[in-house]
Amino acid sequence: MKKAYFCTAEELEQRGKDNLPKQFQSGEHLIYSSPATLAFNSPGAEGFGVKRAGLAVPGSIMLIVAPGCCGRNTSMISSMKEYNNRFFYLCMDETDIVTGRHLKKIPKAVASICESLEKKPSVVMICITCVDALLGTDMERICRKSEEKTGLPVRPCCMYALTREGRKPPMVHVRQSLYSLLEPKKKKGNVVNLLGFFSPLMDDCELYGMLEKAGVTSFHVTLANHSDLENTIPPKNHPYFSEPGCFLKFCDEVRQYTNLPICGVGGLTDPDFVEKQLADGRIQCAAMSRQLLADPDWVNKLKDGHADQIHRCVRCNKKCLGGLMQHQGTHCIYEK
Ligand code: SF4
Repeated sequence: MKKAYFCTAEELEQRGKDNLPKQFQSGEHLIYSSPATLAFNSPGAEGFGVKRAGLAVPGSIMLIVAPGCCGRNTSMISSMKEYNNRFFYLCMDETDIVTGRHLKKIPKAVASICESLEKKPSVVMICITCVDALLGTDMERICRKSEEKTGLPVRPCCMYALTREGRKPPMVHVRQSLYSLLEPKKKKGNVVNLLGFFSPLMDDCELYGMLEKAGVTSFHVTLANHSDLENTIPPKNHPYFSEPGCFLKFCDEVRQYTNLPICGVGGLTDPDFVEKQLADGRIQCAAMSRQLLADPDWVNKLKDGHADQIHRCVRCNKKCLGGLMQHQGTHCIYEK
């Protein structure tokens, strides 16, 4: 394991703000990302994921209710110019944490903030932390009280890092809060709802036809599960996707609903196999990722009649996905 990097406040001061160590600049390297990253992005990683998502509604503001430790980090977001005057902080003290008396202060705080602003916010998001998760706070009720006091929509935005590996991680919760702002409209039978989760489309989904009509010219068909990257980039010993052309079966599904060109991907390493899929009309285009890492000259070698010299990707995932996960870049076992 690599040694943890640190430097003292004195060293930081000597370096100055324009010479910060690369380890402290998130744009300079990958920050450890668990599969839950999509659902939670900590302020410590300069992500502010939950806060930024919560402030996605134009004209919205956010009140974070938190003890000093969480609030300090998080209120840094107001230093970003896009969030100027959109982020407010109600500090919880020890007595609040023990007695929950801060809950009474929240509607008053929301009202005071709204009164102080020149333009009324479109919605007030109340961001709460693990403290309220542990206290079991009924934040929906606090939001309703705040709405009564201000006449504005108020919604919870839960930054519970505690739940990030759970069934309802923070970002899922935030999305629900935002969707709750949408006024339900009468359903139309000929309209598809594109908002929401990226659920797989039903096989007979009318969306394929609609996309064609909208000008889509081809389909790239693959499978992605970003909570388990081995389903997106399957290794040779994957229980379901071990065979060459492992995702082509999904191309076959899509083919039933469109005559447009289809691009296949996944386990396409053997030139003869790829040629056959193209010749059979199963796909019109073959995409490769790991194979081109294993041998960027795949196409040239084939064209020059040297297919036997191609380094075939063995789908070990050791240096490509493995390298990515270990923050060592995407490489291949064939690299010298
Ligand atoms: S390390 Fe190379 S051979 Fe192994 S899966 Fe990745 S690209 Fe293929």
